[in-house]
Amino acid sequence: MNTHTPNIKGERPEIRQLDDAAANRIAAGEVVERPSSAVKELVENSLDAGATRIDIAYADGGKTLIRVSDDGIGIPEDQLHLALSRHATSKIDGTDLLNISSFGFRGEALPSLGAVGRLTISSRGFETDHASEITVNGGDIGPIKPVARSKGTTVELNDLFHATPARLKFLRTDRAEAQAITDVIKRLAMSEPYVGFTLRDVSGGGQGRVTFRADAQSGDLFDAVLGRLRSILGTEFAENSVALDFQREGLSLHGYASLPTYSRGAAIGQYLFVNGRPVKDRLLLGAVRGAYSDYLSRDRHPVVALFIECDPTLVDVNVHPAKAEVRFRDPAGARSLIVSGLRHALSTAGHRASSTVADATIGAFQPEARPTAPVYQMDQRSRPTMVPPVSSPVQSGFADVQTEYSGRVEPVIATVELEDVADKPLGAARAQLHENYIIAQTPDGLVIVDQHAAHERLVYEKLKNQMAANGVASQALLLPEVVDLSENERLVLIDVLDELAKFGLVIEEFGGNAVCVRETPAILGEVNAQALVRDICDELTDQTTTKVVADKIEAILSRVACHGSIRSGRQMRAEEMNALLREMEATPHSGQCNHGRPTYVELKLADIERLFGRT
Ligand code: ADP
Ligand code: MG
Repeated sequence: MNTHTPNIKGERPEIRQLDDAAANRIAAGEVVERPSSAVKELVENSLDAGATRIDIAYADGGKTLIRVSDDGIGIPEDQLHLALSRHATSKIDGTDLLNISSFGFRGEALPSLGAVGRLTISSRGFETDHASEITVNGGDIGPIKPVARSKGTTVELNDLFHATPARLKFLRTDRAEAQAITDVIKRLAMSEPYVGFTLRDVSGGGQGRVTFRADAQSGDLFDAVLGRLRSILGTEFAENSVALDFQREGLSLHGYASLPTYSRGAAIGQYLFVNGRPVKDRLLLGAVRGAYSDYLSRDRHPVVALFIECDPTLVDVNVHPAKAEVRFRDPAGARSLIVSGLRHALSTAGHRASSTVADATIGAFQPEARPTAPVYQMDQRSRPTMVPPVSSPVQSGFADVQTEYSGRVEPVIATVELEDVADKPLGAARAQLHENYIIAQTPDGLVIVDQHAAHERLVYEKLKNQMAANGVASQALLLPEVVDLSENERLVLIDVLDELAKFGLVIEEFGGNAVCVRETPAILGEVNAQALVRDICDELTDQTTTKVVADKIEAILSRVACHGSIRSGRQMRAEEMNALLREMEATPHSGQCNHGRPTYVELKLADIERLFGRT
């Protein structure tokens, strides 16, 4: 019978209480979406139990086996039954759902897992000398049996969803499910640096293969977090990120964020935690994007691990069955914490460009290790754009280089003494090569500047400053444009009319749910006012402030800057070059251009000596 068809016979099905098994299976639908959600629940239980070591094993992407073992406080024999019943938890007493400091609190995971798979818990409680085991299969709980084991708990889940075959059909390939499990473990491992984790794929039976491992860290929290991030995100991330330590209005933000020159092609390296809980929150991820929008083009994404801490009562964690999302009491405050914290950290990082750039440069010049390889061969893959292609050995000296290069080398032009710029990071300009690369000398090395990229950044910053000082010029539309909105859209929009007006977008209410666009930002030229207003409303529905107009204006500024800057191919005089270097030093973010590429690389003498095998 189709349940949506009214019962024509006038008979009405009775309301009945579902039994526990059905209720658990329904709950499982929400809590356990795929193997990785089961892993997440089990590992969170281990963490709540104070474990210092957690070993996770899975087979066939977790579809046939998931096993989580810990050395936590264990479950006393007389409570094993309770642990398997719904809404039974040791973590809260139910009086205060706003003050939660454990991962779990719903008392749903174990009964749900027991309803959709075959679950075995073996545990040795704290201060007991014997261990017990209990099995539940498709909701049927078996007897408690004695077993031998050390302190802690092991939960094994076999054949997940065998009791609900419909679910099985929605699972992805073993490889994709294994990937999701790894992701879950990495996130939890980041939030708990003092706990050791190993993840094994035991698909072939036996000990299997360790696919992820993070040893317990020690030391203060900052060091521990950095050590953990280094082992998960790699040494390059650790070396090319800035530390955050930022407080605002009862919220605090710490963690690490990549320099704009260390970015990725997708937003996959973004890890957010609220009070230690990994979350995938659109509001917070949007804030990260916003904070970097100035330094990265739209298709590049930063790598971040951000930890927000606040009083538990300021955030509701009980809004998502798998607790992957949270709700802040003051969402705008959380957003601005992230934007300000990131911007602050990135600007104090000054114009530190990614070390990978200099390393890649060195790497490009390094002699190949193999004796038969041609000496000083350029590696095309890692060659940064600013290094002129060299076809002859680089050690041949300036005179030779001059004849080898197809481009021209300007006469060496020492109008600035090194002592005069001893405290200037970018040194004294010495030459311009290929009509785009300024070579500057510093007390302990040399700097190569991409003059076009650098100048583009300077023009952009200047345009932005002018805009901040003088406001955005607007132009009146000849025919004001009326836009019909839903009531909800109108309500969110009218809250930000003043803010929009500051950006040159003047909108008025027009009766009913319509609004009327009277002026638009002059710098945008002719705009589709309808589309612009709709974009703004879409964004506002998600969050409380809008950046659509500001983003569009910044994109335009960036384009204007590109056209207004010194093109490569222009010869510069010594004074011009030195002036450019000084201006770069004085301008925030000048270490990268508007697209996140570096504007200069620095090679230390020590690096250069290494190139020539002197050290
Ligand atoms: P919740 O975590 O929301 O309390 P669960 O169904 O996940 O609900 O677990 C029920 C209870 O079983 C927990 O409250 C805890 O007391 C106990 N428990 C589960 N896993 C472990 C474990 N690995 N070590 C110790 N106790 C555990
Ligand atoms: Mg739990």
